[in-house]
Amino acid sequence: MSFDFDLLVIGGGSGGVRAARIAASQHGARVALAEESRMGGTCVIRGCVPKKLMIFASEAPAAAAEAREYGWQAETGAFDWPMFRGKLHTELSRLEGIYTSGLLAAGVEVFHQRARIVDPHMVELADGTRRTAAHILVAVGGRPSRPGIPGDDLAMISDDLFDMERLPGKVLVMGGGFIATEFATILKGLGCDTTLTHRRGRVLRGFDEDARALVTHQLEHIGVSLRLDVNVTAMERDGGGIRCHFDDGSAERFDAVMLATGRHPNTEGLGLEAAGVKLGKGGEIVVDQWSQTNIPSIFAVGDVTDRVNLTPVAIREGHAFADTMFGGHPRHVDHSLVASAVYTRPFELGTIGLTEEDACASREVEIYAATFRPMRSLFAGSDLRALMKLIVCAETRKVLGCHIFAPEAGEMIQLAAVAVTMGATKEDFDLTVAVHPTLAEELVTMRMPVRRSGPEHHRSHDLDRALHPA
Ligand code: NDP
Repeated sequence: MSFDFDLLVIGGGSGGVRAARIAASQHGARVALAEESRMGGTCVIRGCVPKKLMIFASEAPAAAAEAREYGWQAETGAFDWPMFRGKLHTELSRLEGIYTSGLLAAGVEVFHQRARIVDPHMVELADGTRRTAAHILVAVGGRPSRPGIPGDDLAMISDDLFDMERLPGKVLVMGGGFIATEFATILKGLGCDTTLTHRRGRVLRGFDEDARALVTHQLEHIGVSLRLDVNVTAMERDGGGIRCHFDDGSAERFDAVMLATGRHPNTEGLGLEAAGVKLGKGGEIVVDQWSQTNIPSIFAVGDVTDRVNLTPVAIREGHAFADTMFGGHPRHVDHSLVASAVYTRPFELGTIGLTEEDACASREVEIYAATFRPMRSLFAGSDLRALMKLIVCAETRKVLGCHIFAPEAGEMIQLAAVAVTMGATKEDFDLTVAVHPTLAEELVTMRMPVRRSGPEHHRSHDLDRALHPA
């Protein structure tokens, strides 16, 4: 049977675009890609890219404050949100153009419309035309979830942040994950009176406990009001703002509320059920290590599969899929060691591998940790403490996890990730000569473990006291 295309990709985000481009340009496949919204997907249009530019924008007041401590007469003045937003969207349009032109240059046919799967080899576009393909790749990503409490439709989701007409005076951020911590940091930096509310006592569940404590403390340190261990039970309109009710009986009015309570796979209305594609409990497409669904001609990569929901992982999955199916080079992605960073300010959190809690549950580990006030911020009068932490397997000596809470930790963890991915031992770190004076040199100068942890004996309180001074 002959098909219109060898591959039809649904979704023009990081994973879909990579798969389409590699399949067409490197492996000579006949490829089409359908995207209903803007090319580039969540990362480029409403995620990582605009978020990081907003982080940069939000740093100015703290930079000026630090400059004053270094002897400068520095003031930032007022923040011109409309000016910044206009420039931001110009930049996003530029990047979107690069994504589209890259696809066209690779010979990919692009349909700027929604696509729906009709059967294992056929897709229907929004204009009613039907196209066939030997393989269909679903790469439609995810979208923000609302928690389902009364009135939560009054609140913004992260997508809305980049299009706001004006900055809210007083804002509530709800959630304790990547997006909540990063956006609370941004909004505070841009001058909003910012509160973060979370149902637990610390943000960033799943991260190393020491790191979680430090990120939570830093939010408070930069002036974000924290309402922890509490749930929002209802939201209602209050004049031009929103009144939030909490389960401790309190209520507070905010000019705006931003929900950051997770994301879910974008699988509704795609025709997946009709085509017989198996979905998981959260609506995610169930795939094997080759990103193949239970329908042999249908594959899926990226957040829609809810494996590791990060842009570089989607890109890897898309690339591996294209190499496997069209390049005669079968390979799949190892999801077990993926570095990531949470872009809070002034210190970021960079992490790879196991947390102490996970590592010591099944083996003896040595914990190497340094906590200190970095020279630069200390000179400017800040008492914020950085953390460098290595989790080392007592038996094999391999570094199982690395957690860095420090300025530019995202940059540092990328390099540490090379060593950890290669299976470096603690002794390999020790062999590496320090670069002085840097923060990262602490990673190669920690000689003695601060403790051993294992299934039988987890955590001494000495490090706790050093890390979290009263
Ligand atoms: P996360 O899954 O990281 O966090 C969701 C947060 O919302 C958690 O703190 C969770 O609490 C809380 N929550 C969930 N449901 C409810 C509810 N019903 N009521 C109250 N609180 C609730 O999601 P995000 O939205 O922050 O981010 C989505 C994904 O985007 C991330 O997983 C990450 O993969 C990606 N991302 C990555 C970034 C980066 O690499 N820097 C930046 C931004 C996003 P609890 O912990 O109790 O479950």
